[in-house]
This record gives sequence, structure tokens and C-alpha cells, in this order.
Amino acid sequence: MSKSKELFSEAKKYIPGGVNSPARAFKAVDNDPLFIERAKGSFIYDADGKEYIDYVGSWGPMILGHNHPAVVEGLQQQLLKGSSFGAPTKLETTLAEMVVAGVSSVDKVRMVNSGTEATMSALRLARGYTGRTKIIKMEGCYHGHGDSLLVEAGSGITTLGIAGSAGVPAKLAEETIVVAYNDISALEEVFKEYSQEIAAVILEPVTGNMGVVTPNAGYLESLRNLTKEYGALLIFDEVMTGFRLAYGGAQELYNIEPDLTTFGKIIGGGLPVGAYGGKEKIMDYIAPEGPVYQAGTLSGNPLAMVAGINTLKLLKEEDTYDNLEEKGQLLEDGILKNIKKVDVHAVFSRLGSMFTLFFNSSEVTDYQSAKSSNTKAFSIYFNKMLEEGIYLPPSQFEANFISLSHGKDEIQTTIEANYKALLEVKKQVEF
Ligand SMILES: *Cc1c(COP(=O)(O)O)cnc(C)c1O
Repeated sequence: MSKSKELFSEAKKYIPGGVNSPARAFKAVDNDPLFIERAKGSFIYDADGKEYIDYVGSWGPMILGHNHPAVVEGLQQQLLKGSSFGAPTKLETTLAEMVVAGVSSVDKVRMVNSGTEATMSALRLARGYTGRTKIIKMEGCYHGHGDSLLVEAGSGITTLGIAGSAGVPAKLAEETIVVAYNDISALEEVFKEYSQEIAAVILEPVTGNMGVVTPNAGYLESLRNLTKEYGALLIFDEVMTGFRLAYGGAQELYNIEPDLTTFGKIIGGGLPVGAYGGKEKIMDYIAPEGPVYQAGTLSGNPLAMVAGINTLKLLKEEDTYDNLEEKGQLLEDGILKNIKKVDVHAVFSRLGSMFTLFFNSSEVTDYQSAKSSNTKAFSIYFNKMLEEGIYLPPSQFEANFISLSHGKDEIQTTIEANYKALLEVKKQVEF
């Protein structure tokens, strides 16, 4: 038995399902999770000492690659000064200033400890600010596990086939209206029906949590116009896309200014951080300035701030986004060639350093088309890739990430493994 399997059966005795986040279980791919010992750059090492090229990147934060010396050094220095004070530090202002400078729609930003906390707080703020209660979310977008947002939520929810979640009061779920991603006319109808009741529309401007799906031309503009017309706030959940698709996130790429933006993942540089920000007028509605309460014992934690500051600094200094695009394109070219050569039903969806290989015969544009992918084919593909030393997210409905530390050699190795894995799929699955 592998060490990972041993550790997993031990973990299951003390931790529900043996994991602290369901997305880590390998249930959808008929396997058990790898237990990880360490990671460096684009490589990750399991408990048996086997090396993998990593495309999970801790689900998004590790854009520099694992264990970047600048991040590690900063953390070591800060540890000697103390790990938490529960009082303001200059570090919080520094990171906030960097976010404000980098993201044009953000005047002020509040730090929290996770993406979930960021979206929950942003919703409360939107409801407090507008005095309205209903929220519109898009089918297949994941915004963390807050009660209001666990409806048709993609990611782990789709992977595990849970419709929403037990334990979410129906009364609360009723306040969340779900419409299809990329469907503007459905959104118009909902606005007509509920007009003055809608506090906010929240979405992943580019989705990662049903796999990578990009917005149709004009979709985000229409969203911006509709929300303005009806006096609802537009919330971009950029927990995944912030500092990933561009330094200023998807909103920079598509040139749209939301009212509120949520962050997480990259801004914590691998430590637990979330944040939400927006126009001063709205943000000053939060306590202690305003009536919307939100707090946190470890919020703005000095270690997390240091990791975030050093990560953003490097992203800004280096030729980050061209570099990531170049490697993304290289991978895309190779994989498209393989798909053609092997002749399998698969489409490669990519924006910059985020990508998903959907086992689907047509383009994926929303949740319904994502769900029509062949998950059995994905499972075969995933396990063969793992055998070949490529570590992918264990679900069809997730984004894969390229980091700055992925070299062209690793990309090439991945393309070769992809060819073998597609052959395996072809052998076992009838399309
Ligand atoms: C990961 C993610 C979240 C949740 O963040 P956590 O830190 O896991 O709570 C929210 N929204 C999006 C878009 C995400 O990708």
C-alpha cells in the first residue's frame, strides 16, 4: 500500500472524509488523495517521495510557484517579530495600498481570512448598503460556502453531485436567484420581475469553478449596464482571477468596473487571506465607520500580509502576464495537436494561465454545457496523467493553473503525458 493510502485511512478516523476540504478528495476520479510532503517551484512531492508537475497550485494561490525564496524569506523575518498581534500593523496598509493601486475599481479594501469570508461579507455589505435582500448568482459559479451562495454552485458541489447543501434554510436560499452564466436575456427577465428587490449580482467574471468558461462578447458590459439601471451592486468575485488573469484581474482585462470585488488566493501568497473592496462610499458602510458589522481575530494577520505583499511585488516587477500567456499558448498548441491526432471529443478552454480540458464535443459556455462533459473520460485521463507524474485537480469542473516557475521543459513533459492519457481515454471510452 502506498504511504498516501495509509495516511488517508488514518486521517479518516479523525477528520470527516479524511480531508479538510471536499475538493481534495479524489472521489470523482475513483481514487484516494495524495498526501503531500513538500513542494518547490512547479513540482510537488507526495508522501512516497514521488515527484509531480503541479497544476493545482494550491487551487490558485501559487502563481509564483511553490516556496518562492522572496516569500519564504519575508515569512522567516516576520516570524521572529511575532505571528499575530490583534492590533493594526503597517503591513496591512501596505498590502491594501497595493490592491488599491492595482485594481482601479477599488478605493478601499478590508482584509479577511478566506475567499468565503470575503464573498459573505461583500453580500452583507451590498444588502446593508442598498437596503434590499435578493441576490442574483450565476449557475456554476462558486463563491465559497456561505449559506446564500451554495445554490447551484459548481466546483466541489458539482463534483460530488450535491444539489446545494443540507443545512441551508429554504428561506435564505429563496433570497438567491440563479440564472445561467452568459445568458443576458434571463438576467433581464429577473430584473424586470424583482426590480427594486435586488441588492447585488455576484459572479466570477471568468469562471474557474465549473472549469474555465469565458464571458461572451458584451456579457460583462450588459451586466454592468443592467445593475446600474436597477440600482443593484455588481460584485466581481475575483478570488481566483484577481492578480491571475492580469495584475488588475478580469476587470482590467475586460475593462469593466464592478462596485465591489472579492479577493483571496493569490493576495495571500499561500497563506490564508481573503479581502473585499470597492468604492469608498460603499466601503465606508462597514463598521467601525458604518452600520454593517464584520470582524476577525486573525484578519490582516502579519504573516499572511507579508506573503501577499512579497507575491504582489514580484508579480508587478516581472514580465508576469506575457510570460504566463506564452506558456499557456505552448501548452494549448500541444494539447490541441494531441486531441486532433488521437481523435477524442475534447475541447481546451484557456485564458492566460487558467485552463480546463473538457471531455466534450462542443464548446463549453455555461453550466449546462459544462455538465454535459464526459466525467468517466475525465477520470481515466486524470489517473493516467497522475501515473505519468502530472498532478491535476481531481475533477472535470475545476481550473488548472500554470505558474511563473513552470518551465518550457515541464510544459513539454505535460504535452507528452497528455498524448498518452488521451490514447488511454480513446481506448476505454466510446464517444
Ligand atoms: C476559491 C474561491 C472562493 C472561496 O475561497 P476560500 O478561500 O476557499 O474560502 C470564492 N470564490 C471563488 C471564485 C473562488 O475561486
